[in-house]
Amino acid sequence: MSIAIHPSVDHGVKQGSADFAGGTLVCKCKDRPVKVSVATQSAHNHVCGCTRCWKPDGALFAMIAVAPRDKVTVTDNEDKLKIVDDKATIQRHACIGCGVHMLGRIENKDHPFYGLDFIHTELSSESGWSAPGFAAFVSSIIESGADPNNMDAVRARLRELGLPPYDCLSPPLMDFIATKLAQASGVLKA
Ligand SMILES: [Zn+2]
Ligand SMILES: [Zn+2]
Repeated sequence: MSIAIHPSVDHGVKQGSADFAGGTLVCKCKDRPVKVSVATQSAHNHVCGCTRCWKPDGALFAMIAVAPRDKVTVTDNEDKLKIVDDKATIQRHACIGCGVHMLGRIENKDHPFYGLDFIHTELSSESGWSAPGFAAFVSSIIESGADPNNMDAVRARLRELGLPPYDCLSPPLMDFIATKLAQASGVLKA
């Protein structure tokens, strides 16, 4: 039996559509669901093993992407959203009814990812969102209770799915962060 990574990838990673232009994220509440409009294709989609990202029941990983914050708008029942931890770098706005994280926002203008909101595209019924391309913070699933002795099998399954496993972010994103930091410090010309 293969290892369940996340319901959106366990039957194979579905590729995104080149002409996809966004959709609506809906929380799991039957009554007055929170809705978030994302008026663009997602970027940098990946599965994440960190302890902070919202994961569906039973999933080892979360699946998370980004979109420019000016394209992300809460359209319905915003009163049900509450920030999980307002001290965290990424402020995750969760539904108080079902617990789903509807968007993660960075308010620190000096942060390399400022201007990008984190979103879970699986909350949308539309198809065509950018496909996940790697697995981030893989070792961190142990912090959520995964068996440390099973990590070789987890990493093998991720590779089989075409999601190269990393214990931080992917090399391009780590390079992006380092470049922003080097520009901020003046080591690199912006
Ligand atoms: Zn909800
Ligand atoms: Zn995460």
